[in-house]
Order: sequence, then structure tokens, then C-alpha cells
Amino acid sequence: MVEGRCMKCKAQRVMKDDKEIEIAGKGGTKRRAATGLCEVCGTKMFKFLPKKTV
Ligand SMILES: [Zn+2]
Repeated sequence: MVEGRCMKCKAQRVMKDDKEIEIAGKGGTKRRAATGLCEVCGTKMFKFLPKKTV
């Protein structure tokens, strides 16, 4: 379960159908992020996830 800020609700919401994705950053780095839908209004949400500590 991932929580993020919904731009429409202007509040912290639980993401529905959340998916973990990787975004290519500068210098060949990859950042983990999650996308999903706001549980309340269905607006698409996006959130960067903390780096994986290996
Ligand atoms: Zn919302």
C-alpha cells in the first residue's frame, strides 16, 4: 500500500491500483516511483519512493 498526495483532494490519500515504476534519471541513474489512482476521487497520483538500500 502506497500513500501519496492527491492534487485534487489536496490531502494525503491511499493509492488504488498502485504500480511501482522506474524512472531514468540523469547520468544513467534510476529512481523508483509509484503511480496509482486516488482512492477517493480517482485522480492519477505519482510519488517518488525512497531509494533502495542495497
Ligand atoms: Zn483525490
